[in-house]
Amino acid sequence: MWFVDMIPPLANIYYIPLMSYVAMARKWRPRSFDEMVGQEHIAQTLKNAIATGNIHHAFLFTGTRGVGKTTSARILAAMLNCTSEKKPCRECENCKAITTGSSMDVSEFDAASNSGVDEMRELLEGTEYPPMSSKYKALIIDEVHALSSKAWSSMLKTLEEPPSYLVFILATTEVNKVPATILSRVLRFDFKRLSPMQISKRLAFICEQEGISAEQEALSIISEKADGSMRDSLTIFDEVFAYSGKTITAESVQNALGIPSNALYFELVQSFEAHDAKGSFAVLEKAMASGVEVQMFLNGLIRFLRNFLYAKIGLSAEQLEISQASLDSLKALAPTFEQGDILRIAKIITELSEKCSAKYGLNPRLLAEAEFSKIAWLDRVVNIKEALENLQSVPHAPLKEENQKKISPTGSTGFTTSAGSAGSTTTAATATSTGSTTATAASTAAGDFRLTI
Ligand SMILES: [Zn+2]
Repeated sequence: MWFVDMIPPLANIYYIPLMSYVAMARKWRPRSFDEMVGQEHIAQTLKNAIATGNIHHAFLFTGTRGVGKTTSARILAAMLNCTSEKKPCRECENCKAITTGSSMDVSEFDAASNSGVDEMRELLEGTEYPPMSSKYKALIIDEVHALSSKAWSSMLKTLEEPPSYLVFILATTEVNKVPATILSRVLRFDFKRLSPMQISKRLAFICEQEGISAEQEALSIISEKADGSMRDSLTIFDEVFAYSGKTITAESVQNALGIPSNALYFELVQSFEAHDAKGSFAVLEKAMASGVEVQMFLNGLIRFLRNFLYAKIGLSAEQLEISQASLDSLKALAPTFEQGDILRIAKIITELSEKCSAKYGLNPRLLAEAEFSKIAWLDRVVNIKEALENLQSVPHAPLKEENQKKISPTGSTGFTTSAGSAGSTTTAATATSTGSTTATAASTAAGDFRLTI
């Protein structure tokens, strides 16, 4: 039968090598403070404490998710119990046991799923006995803010009079929910959110180690999307890697994450510059046809306008974390736009993005089109200095003798000296008054302005 030929031989199926893929966040989890990004202030303090043997009995690590709190807790536990000179050595029995999670002296407890007093009592019962093979017993409690009030009370008793070998390491994303009685008994460390620059540098290092070729701009897009979290950046990186393989470009990141391509933003800004509202609608239509939501398109636009503005101001490609070619394209884009124009557009788009996310029940596309029209019809910000220079370059014409007499304060036809009829006096006064006013206003503005009649 014809279809039999289409079925691959079984041997081919069975001999396909099975690759076990370890998630990047797990594979590249720091195992010492030297590998930790962005929390140098905390690493230094903890290293000093270990070196001097001045160990507090309770630590509280607080900060947003994915910035290294639980990882730091494990590193600290390893440093407390490592038997080598250089702590943590990663090679002694204690270090290995902590890395694999099999240490009898280091317990990890997730308060989010074990928030009750019974679980806490059970956990604390285990701390009544000294450590088996280490110097310290470390109790790592993650998401500690989720504990019930009775669980807190139960923990407080041990925290007030802990055995000398016991160290609490508490981690939380919501420090405001931790009772004051606990806060007053712990050494608190505030973990910082990571900057996009810090994240992309770490990603570049990982790519180098993994033999992955990645454009700087591609990593920059991932780090922006990670919003300060190293763990999130690695999860996004996994997603992109699954799509792109070992060559990661800005375009492949945009495709993998459903982010609109920069080419659309270039086209949009060009249509704004050309006062072409219809063209801007067409760009939005293209974005939506490729499956991009209005909100996501606007978020990308805000980021693009930021880079556009900074490129005009003169920041380098390295500072903006984009390629030199992209920077050159941004600099060449919409030459008639001044910095003030870009700022005005950015303000309108930011407000529009807020409106779209506020769920007014309005159609975000209609809102976007209305604002795009407004931007397309905006006049340019006028550079006052240039306008004055243009004004000064207007060729001067000599004043007519008759009018010179009229506006001259010493002239015989002046208002106060005129002795003619009522009609002619009025005419002279009007002429004098008009002439003087114009000349004053103009000379204030342009200095050497000459009245031309
Ligand atoms: Zn060790």
